[in-house]
Amino acid sequence: MATTRDYYEILSVERTASGDEIKRSYRRLAMKYHPDRNPDDAVAETRFKECAEAYEVLSDPDKRSVYDKYGHAGLRSTPGHDFNSMHVEDIFSMFNDIFGGGGGGGGARRGGRGGVPRGYDLETEVEITLEEVLDGAEREVDFKRLDVCQTCTGTGAKPGTKAQSCQTCGGQGKVAQAGFGGMFRMVTTCPDCRGSGTIIVDKCADCRGSGRVSVRRRLTVRIPPGVRSGQAVRLTGEGEPPRPEQSPTGQGIRGDLHVVVRVKAHKRFERDGDHLLIALPIAFAQAALGDEIEIDGIDGPVSVTIPAGTQHGALFRVKEAGLPNLQSSRRGDLVAIVQLVVPRKLTEAQKKLLSAYAETEELIVTPSAQHPSLWEKIKDAVTGG
Ligand SMILES: [Zn+2]
Ligand SMILES: [Zn+2]
Repeated sequence: MATTRDYYEILSVERTASGDEIKRSYRRLAMKYHPDRNPDDAVAETRFKECAEAYEVLSDPDKRSVYDKYGHAGLRSTPGHDFNSMHVEDIFSMFNDIFGGGGGGGGARRGGRGGVPRGYDLETEVEITLEEVLDGAEREVDFKRLDVCQTCTGTGAKPGTKAQSCQTCGGQGKVAQAGFGGMFRMVTTCPDCRGSGTIIVDKCADCRGSGRVSVRRRLTVRIPPGVRSGQAVRLTGEGEPPRPEQSPTGQGIRGDLHVVVRVKAHKRFERDGDHLLIALPIAFAQAALGDEIEIDGIDGPVSVTIPAGTQHGALFRVKEAGLPNLQSSRRGDLVAIVQLVVPRKLTEAQKKLLSAYAETEELIVTPSAQHPSLWEKIKDAVTGG
């Protein structure tokens, strides 16, 4: 039975999520609910399979658009996998390229050439402040990964004993089954040895025969200046060793650890690439007469000269007072957006002065439709250099 839960909810992504975000979220959840990490946990296995189903649909633009329009009902006639009846290993190999895992085609991309097995990539997240984007930051990451069991050196067999060849598949790890009344044969992972080709009679007590144990690891990661939210720092070789069925002793190449950086929203600054936007509240008199205003920039005060007659929404750009660029030594700009503040209360003296002024005032009103909207203007100014 396919799931009836919302696919976006299952992958905890927005309906507008990009293909990359969907992929990343799926990878994180699949690792979280992987049965190896949650032994004998039926709920985790269901979640794992649900995620695979959601990912199969949302990663395919055609299926995704059908799902967006008609929901689950729309996909009834579209062929999809019955993940509930699939083995976890088969699901993993289906989306091999996402996990960076070896064995299949995905492992050949990097380092896995010539059939060298490669373990899964892992992912973790860190949060930094906008101020830290300036100079970069250092964070301790604490994560769990599967490592080769030291007691049995990964074989899964109690020390002194040996794994035996699986009778069901004759050591092949795969079995052929007749499908649809014998019309064709399907080759699937052997249900008895789960693809390893061997059966462990005396299981190692420390890893319960899996050859892998979950290990907590702490690392210091250096986050470069200029990083943007969602970008990841890759720590090569800090992922998992090849899976037992690829190499029981873990020989081969370890996967990588991807540390995804989240940049916290700032109270005063809005980020636009390497530029920073900031509201600049000024009084009517300052706008009318002009002034020199000091702004608290991200790394110290900067001064902005407001000419006489400055309008609400005017932009002032302070070159290179924004954020550093990840790839170059250039810094973005600080863009101050004028906000004309009208006083909520006036003293009697102020009222008198303003009334006297009002009598001399001549306001020239131009239809606002002839002007680009404020936000259009800001967008143009920011992206225009
Ligand atoms: Zn062991
Ligand atoms: Zn077998």
